[in-house]
Amino acid sequence: MVDCDNCNDEVGHVWKHRRPTETMTYRREEHLCAGCHPRMREGLSQRGA
Ligand SMILES: [Zn+2]
Repeated sequence: MVDCDNCNDEVGHVWKHRRPTETMTYRREEHLCAGCHPRMREGLSQRGA
C-alpha cells in the first residue's frame, strides 16, 4: 500500500504528478491517488457516470 501525497489516503496505486510551479528552480513530484490525480479525474468524468 502507498500513501497519496494529497489526501494521505492509503491506496493500492498512485500516479506520479509533476506539479507545475512558477519558479524553474523548484519542481516537486507528487504521488496522487486516482481521486486526486487531475488526469485520472479527467478520465472518470469523460466516462460520464
Ligand atoms: Zn488522494
